[in-house]
Amino acid sequence: MGLDDITRKIAAAEAAAGRAPGSVQLIAVSKVQPAERVEAVLRAGHRLFGENYVQESAAKWPAWRAEFPGVAVHMIGPLQTNKAKQAVELFEAIHSVDRPSLATKLASLAQVRGRSPEVFIQVNTGAEPQKAGILPEGVDAFVAEVRALDLPLVGLMCIPPEGEDPAPHFAMLAGMAARNGLSGLSMGMSSDFEAAIAAGATHVRVGSAIFGARDYSARH
Ligand SMILES: *Cc1c(COP(=O)(O)O)cnc(C)c1O
Repeated sequence: MGLDDITRKIAAAEAAAGRAPGSVQLIAVSKVQPAERVEAVLRAGHRLFGENYVQESAAKWPAWRAEFPGVAVHMIGPLQTNKAKQAVELFEAIHSVDRPSLATKLASLAQVRGRSPEVFIQVNTGAEPQKAGILPEGVDAFVAEVRALDLPLVGLMCIPPEGEDPAPHFAMLAGMAARNGLSGLSMGMSSDFEAAIAAGATHVRVGSAIFGARDYSARH
């Protein structure tokens, strides 16, 4: 595995699905990875990354942004409302907007700053009690709510239940996005990004298949 391998597989999956080359963006999920692995991917020319933790991102990315122009970092993990202020300064997009209180907070920050990261709504397609995300039956109303707040809503995001075929979840998310006029689909990880591309993913979030396994015990 590694960056080149994943890039090739994405191109092949785009072609197999009859999609335009470059229609899928690869978010290299760098959470918890040692600096040298991330720097190798930056030196290879990759510029789009995903992170799960505000604190960790604040410690890592300012220096890398200065060193590697054109970097974009997307927040893909759960976001506490009390970290929203920090998050809007750190990220070009937030994929985990999953409740009205967070949307309202992001909207008021956008008012003050005059700009906002792009927003994806996270959908709990499997209706799993322990998982974040708007339940499928609440998606249309929440899309309307986020739009009414004038946030730059670009799409939907999901994490299918472990151990289930992800394809029906990807198809469900694609259907919800289409009926709401949203073009962004953040779906697919190391184990299932090709299935996600077949279902229309515009952003795949791939971590361990690029960087290797994460070692949470080594976290700083
Ligand atoms: C960690 C994470 C990923 C990447 O997972 P891999 O299996 O390492 O590719 C993707 N999406 C989200 C939301 C994550 O938290």
